[in-house]
Amino acid sequence: MSSEAKDKAQVSPSDFYARRLADRDNIRRTYYEERADRAVKALQKNGFTAFYAEERRKAQEEILKLVPEGATIGVGGSITIREIGVLPELAKRGHRIYDHWAPGLTQEEILSIRRAHLTCDVFFTSANALTLDGQIVCGEGVGNRVCAMTFGPQKVIIAVGANKIVKDLHAALQRVKEVAAPQALSGLGLTLPCVQTGSCYDCDSPQRACRITLILERKPPLTDTIVAVVGESLGF
Ligand code: SF4
Repeated sequence: MSSEAKDKAQVSPSDFYARRLADRDNIRRTYYEERADRAVKALQKNGFTAFYAEERRKAQEEILKLVPEGATIGVGGSITIREIGVLPELAKRGHRIYDHWAPGLTQEEILSIRRAHLTCDVFFTSANALTLDGQIVCGEGVGNRVCAMTFGPQKVIIAVGANKIVKDLHAALQRVKEVAAPQALSGLGLTLPCVQTGSCYDCDSPQRACRITLILERKPPLTDTIVAVVGESLGF
């Protein structure tokens, strides 16, 4: 008899399921860890520097070690990077941060910050999906993020929650439009079909945000690209 079956025989069904419920976090952590381990190895095979951090605090600690003193920082429109909390720490260290989500900016200032992303020393972003084969996929409307991810900054640091790991490229492209876009575009006052229904309709709306898709199959040759895979659900 397996140990699980023995346990089941010794406790009442309600106790068993209560314990399974209490174990849910551990089960999820193990699931994330196993998939992250496969993704990290595949990323390394594809030329990226990649590491796993069990949770956001650990990720923050490791990421901060990678930023040279005095480096200028660019940051894409990423919830994940904000959740990890690196930006306040970098601000405390005195780094110049180009953040187009900072409050009170004019349209001209936002545009100027997006341009500065292309020439900063270290660019921070997340991705919309990471495959178990080590491919990184991002969908975007404007293009400053995907440009900065491929050429310009000396170093690009991509932080990805394990919730974004998918089996393959097909699943990654599907995730961009079925999972990431409907959530990322929600709450912005847009009338897009994905926001209203939770599904992509490959719309022709003037508000359409899906205009550019980036697939990093291998590390861009002239950019030091580092991927932190975090064992938590982060971003959209
Ligand atoms: S193509 Fe249109 S409907 Fe589909 S995810 Fe993008 S913005 Fe939403």
